[in-house]
Amino acid sequence: IEADVCRLSDAPAQTRCGTPLHFYSNIDFREELQSVQSVGSEGVGLFRSENLFIDNTKAPQEHEQQAYYREMAEALHPAPLVIRLFDIGGDKLIYSSISEPNPNLGWRGIRILIDVPEILDSQLLAILKANTGGNIQVLLPMISSIEEIRHIRSALDRHIDHLKSAGISFREPLLGAMIEIPAAVLIIEEITKIVDFISIGTNDLTQYTLAVDRNNEIVQDLFEKFHPAIVRQLHTIISAANRNKCRVSLCGDMGSDPLAMPFLLGCGLREFSVVSSDIPEIKSTCRLLDIESSEKIAQECLQLDSAQKIKSRLQRFLGQVK
Ligand code: PEP
Ligand code: MG
Repeated sequence: IEADVCRLSDAPAQTRCGTPLHFYSNIDFREELQSVQSVGSEGVGLFRSENLFIDNTKAPQEHEQQAYYREMAEALHPAPLVIRLFDIGGDKLIYSSISEPNPNLGWRGIRILIDVPEILDSQLLAILKANTGGNIQVLLPMISSIEEIRHIRSALDRHIDHLKSAGISFREPLLGAMIEIPAAVLIIEEITKIVDFISIGTNDLTQYTLAVDRNNEIVQDLFEKFHPAIVRQLHTIISAANRNKCRVSLCGDMGSDPLAMPFLLGCGLREFSVVSSDIPEIKSTCRLLDIESSEKIAQECLQLDSAQKIKSRLQRFLGQVK
């Protein structure tokens, strides 16, 4: 098996018809960097920086963050390191002692970053100062409005101006938005015109679209990423990004499911970020597919009215190409 994985890691990331694809890694800690290099991943497409929270409650200091990010960026250079700003709150780490009746609909992600400038400022400064090699990119969690993106953009610009006038050397990072709330899908046209890239978070997109808590076991059978409401949103997002020449990748768990590949490729997606160990399998699935028939299958799936029908259609299709 190991030999197979090695061979696959070296095989070109492309479809059967030769269309280039890009596979990146999702990581939670810098210790996982080794896995990135060993599976033919092109870099880190999602670093969940909230894992740096000390004892799950306290924000790390700016200098600690800077050293951590710099070490990762240097190890990866020139490959990219996409740092998602702290996605704390909700079902993740508890930042405040306030108990919320609906934490997933509460104080989480970008909302905390906007309300607590100390956290935002120290993270942005640490990222800027760590970005001497220019391979760090910044990703914003839980975006539901243009104002949120503008807020961070102006904080970032303020720090950039300040560091420049202080004579500190660094490179300006690209700025991207997670698309994981249905509101963001409905304004995707505007979002893809003001950011450098987007990354689709199918875990939260499924949770918020279907009103199904991603961690509540009672309703897990309703957590269905092939629901027509999700599938159609994915098509909307990817089409808008491609139309507006905004880079788009997918970093939710759906990117690890071979069944989703014909649909996603057919919608025009070419970048995936998944846990490193899943790259060989999805890469080998993609190497069997060609764009033209994937596009046809995607169009068919968009007409179907249930997750069951969509999954059966994709299963039948994959069975034929394998
Ligand atoms: C997602 O929501 O799909 C995602 C990638 O982010 P997380 O799982 O960290 O919320
Ligand atoms: Mg998410």
